Amino acid sequence: MHRSGILFVLSAPSGAGKTTLCDSMRKTPDFFYSVSCTTRAPRRGEEDAKDYYFLTEAEFRRRIGRGFFLEHARVHGFRYGTPIQAVKDALVRGLDILLDIDVQGARQIRTNTDAAIRTALVDVFLMPPTFAELEQRLRKRATDDEASIRRRLSTAREEMRHWREYDYVILSGSVEEDVQKFRAITRAERYRATRLTLDEFATGG
Ligand code: 5GP
Repeated sequence: MHRSGILFVLSAPSGAGKTTLCDSMRKTPDFFYSVSCTTRAPRRGEEDAKDYYFLTEAEFRRRIGRGFFLEHARVHGFRYGTPIQAVKDALVRGLDILLDIDVQGARQIRTNTDAAIRTALVDVFLMPPTFAELEQRLRKRATDDEASIRRRLSTAREEMRHWREYDYVILSGSVEEDVQKFRAITRAERYRATRLTLDEFATGG
């Protein structure tokens, strides 16, 4: 028996705990983690080709023109996009992918013209427990200046209105709780009959 790869998409307002959750998942061999492209500058400690591919605006636009992206969007004033080829290759190989992208990107994947991509998609929204908690988490992170925090909070309000568009919603608690809930979703999705092929029957053996 084998199964096709699943395209897990995780969206959350920044500060909701998404990076921590993704980093925990990244430490396991369960997922192929896609590295996005962005036009924003690297934060302290971030590495090119590991955290993001850091591109100029001109290079990003050239890649849009070449059909390089599965989806791309403007978030907090910068461009972000998912390279399509790595995603397609991983799905064909039966690997599960984890994408950490915003609500606009998730929407673009839901309406992708390629049926293989749409059926592979499982999208999850990580909801901060309260707006006040989100603000506190953003401030504690201390990687952004005041203007950037304000912008992220206003984007968060807008993003949180879209939770109903997702297959699953996790109300964020502790890191351990979030990881457990996310794992429960990934486990169940891996056993879906529609994703499985019985090789014995498929080959007539
Ligand atoms: P940050 O700048 O804090 O790393 O990310 C800001 C936001 O951009 C996050 O909400 C993250 O999910 C989103 N993001 C990161 N990569 C991509 C991408 O490839 N596509 C889209 N649409 N959003 C992304």
